[in-house]
Amino acid sequence: MVLTDPYGRPLLNLRIALTKPCNLHCSYCHGEGEDKNIENPTREMTCEEIIRIAKIATSLGISRIKLTGGEPLLRKDILQIVKGIASLQGLEELSMTTNGTLIAPIAKELHANGLKRVNISLPTIDGETYCKLTGGRLDDVLEGVKAAVEAGLNPVKLNMLILRDVNDHQIFEMIDFARETGAILQLIELEPINISWEYYSAYYKPLDEYEEMLKQKALKVENRRFMQNRRIYHLPNVKVEVVHPIENTDFCQNCTRLRVTSDGKLKPCLMRNDNTIDILTPIRKGAKDEELIALFKLANQRRQPYNKNK
Ligand code: SAM
Repeated sequence: MVLTDPYGRPLLNLRIALTKPCNLHCSYCHGEGEDKNIENPTREMTCEEIIRIAKIATSLGISRIKLTGGEPLLRKDILQIVKGIASLQGLEELSMTTNGTLIAPIAKELHANGLKRVNISLPTIDGETYCKLTGGRLDDVLEGVKAAVEAGLNPVKLNMLILRDVNDHQIFEMIDFARETGAILQLIELEPINISWEYYSAYYKPLDEYEEMLKQKALKVENRRFMQNRRIYHLPNVKVEVVHPIENTDFCQNCTRLRVTSDGKLKPCLMRNDNTIDILTPIRKGAKDEELIALFKLANQRRQPYNKNK
């Protein structure tokens, strides 16, 4: 059984924020659309609570789960969380998005515990630019990318968020780096969430012109409908995916996701915080599975394409 929302979109993916804090401070970070000002450590979900939510999700036909944050690898119990979710019946794929700075020492264990694939945020391979953008050390991530590939996480995708006049001239260097390491490069357009309008206007760069260049170099171009209609360019020995949600009605029309915020709320849309549903409080009050299933169904009913009127 798969749930379908009022717009006919199947619910196939769950994106769980495991924690709110991050060890980096990326200037562009949308923080998964969570309200940045609310920080309540007692509301962080325990390993058991996260696995229970994931179990309800898989019982409702959700087959793909992505762990995110904050930085998911700040969780001391990350291996337990991964193992618990990976063993759930009906789950086809467990993945993670991470800044990659902490992954090198545990990449093998993550894979052994059931993590299939990973997205590593890497906006640049220039050390100085990396430090300015994120506050972190580039070498830590590069080591992480190599360790993830070696551990057998597959694919390893490099999330390169494009910022005008900051890293947009580095795309072809990044394509070479992805090819050398055996990773896939994912180009991401800046979204105006949790950043100032000034920041967005200064750094937003549409990706259309790169798509034109990629099309010319590609051996094959693929269109993935249930991955927000993204295009995948098969260049010689490397793939490049392009994600551009803004002003792209297809992005919302083909959305198959629900989110769980780091404080345990079901979040039907990345762009909105006015229609979330608290699932953690009922869990802590001893709710039965049927009650949690009803909350998931309600959250699914609240899913609607954000761009539907554009
Ligand atoms: N700390 C982890 C990381 O760095 O991947 C997980 C959280 S981070 C918010 C998840 C993803 O969101 C990253 O791949 C990042 O590139 C993307 N992202 C962050 N801010 C964004 C923005 N303003 N627009 C589009 N994507 C963004």
